[in-house]
Amino acid sequence: MIPTQVVAIDGPSGAGKSTVARQLAAQLGFGFLDTGAMYRAITWHFLQTGCAPAECAGDPDRGVARMRQALATAHLELVAGAVLLNGKDVTAHLRTREVESQVSAVSALSFVREAMRDLQRVVAAAGPVVAEGRDMGSVVFPQARWKVYLDAAPSERARRRCQDFARQGRIVSEGDVLEEILVRDRLDSTRSDAPLRQAPDAFYLDSTGLLTEQVVAMLLQFVRGTSAAGAS
Ligand code: C5P
Repeated sequence: MIPTQVVAIDGPSGAGKSTVARQLAAQLGFGFLDTGAMYRAITWHFLQTGCAPAECAGDPDRGVARMRQALATAHLELVAGAVLLNGKDVTAHLRTREVESQVSAVSALSFVREAMRDLQRVVAAAGPVVAEGRDMGSVVFPQARWKVYLDAAPSERARRRCQDFARQGRIVSEGDVLEEILVRDRLDSTRSDAPLRQAPDAFYLDSTGLLTEQVVAMLLQFVRGTSAAGAS
């Protein structure tokens, strides 16, 4: 049985999904599932093993065999906001530009997606969750009770990502970040397996110009309103 007690939030990079989803989950008393962090952790693992897509470009068949092997030995756990890989906390490594430059290529691999999909469903089966990513409402939880597509203008998304980087002590030009975001958007929305797409039954919300608190309040209203409608 695929879990249905899920608030599935999808959208492009930098739309604010993680921040909003985390706060929404806390207010609802639901679990929180950051699926981007899972793809990032696998990408980091491939980089550590020396088999990330860019490193294997010269011999793609051997690269895929090595990535399959590395995936088979990767045990991922999401514990209280941290990502553990084979028991080690790798959270601090996930938002580096090295990982960001490879994560879209890794997440386009069907054998990686299949493993992540299975794990995401196992996590969500434990109780209601707010799950955020690219294919939550369209593929992983097609019967999710609540579906949201969170969007924002590319320039605003780049500005927010620059602020994230600045908080990590990294000064990066907004133009460079915008370019990287647009590349990731293109790769994520044109891949053949589970591309970024708005589910037809999703609530569309453009967060451009809105504060996080405003977006969270709108989503709380959406979830509670839908719950009330569902209960009557
Ligand atoms: O959301 P975040 O920026 O952390 O996601 C990192 C990358 O992981 C995305 O650019 C995308 O390539 C991949 N991803 C995905 N499917 C998801 C979540 C993330 O393909 N459900």
